[in-house]
Parts: sequence; C-alpha cells; structure tokens
Amino acid sequence: MEEYMLDPNVRKAWKIYPVRILGRSISDCCEEPTLLVQSMEGGFVTRNCSKCGQYTKLPESVFKNEIDLWVACPRCNGRMKPEVLPDKNYGFVCTPCDIYIKLSDLLPRWEDLWPFAGRPPGARSTNLDTSEHPC
Ligand SMILES: [Zn+2]
Ligand SMILES: [Zn+2]
Repeated sequence: MEEYMLDPNVRKAWKIYPVRILGRSISDCCEEPTLLVQSMEGGFVTRNCSKCGQYTKLPESVFKNEIDLWVACPRCNGRMKPEVLPDKNYGFVCTPCDIYIKLSDLLPRWEDLWPFAGRPPGARSTNLDTSEHPC
C-alpha cells in the first residue's frame, strides 16, 4: 500500500480555511468542545481543547466510529476507510487503489488554528491581552 502525498499547499490553505473537525469530546480543562489537530511529532493526531489547546489522545474507536469523515480517494473518488496504518498512525485507506492518506495530513496544526498563540512576547503590549488566554 502506497502513501498518497497531499499537495503542501493544502496545509497552507488550512490556515485560512475556517472549518474545524470536532474531536467528539468535551475538554476536562475548560469543558469546551475538542478539535482534531496534528501534533508536533508528524503523523500523530490529538484532540485539543478549543479554548486553551490542552491536548488528549484520540482513541482508535472514536476515530473509526465517531469522527465520521468522508474522505474521497484522489484516484477513484470512492470513500476511503478509517484504519490504523502499519506505522500505527491513523489514516484513510482505499483498498481497490491500494493507497492511503494520513489523517494528520488532513488536519491543521494547533499553531495554524491559533496563530496568535505563538506570537513573540511584546508583539502586543497592553495588560488586557492576558485575558484572552485564561488557561
Ligand atoms: Zn482548556
Ligand atoms: Zn480509490
């Protein structure tokens, strides 16, 4: 089975594309919905609190049964099946075409969703700014 590599421009598009994928859970920290994001270490996917970014693991059963995405195969346009890939990361597989796409390739990074969280200190200077990041 061969990995289908997405165009790197897809990642760039995520930074301005406003649709998010729900993690199907409520965060313990803020009791807010979680969102799926690509973790720092490549193919790993976490679900992060939509308010503060605290992450938790995405269980396999949730990925397979609850996330419920339609991922269209880039070759045949059929629906790809959620599976655990040989490298233990989550992905979507098209058996007839013998290809897969990593779930993490379809997701933004946390920094993509909240670009201001990583801004350099002093980029904004009023005390009011701290109230935006209560966690
Ligand atoms: Zn939180
Ligand atoms: Zn296919």
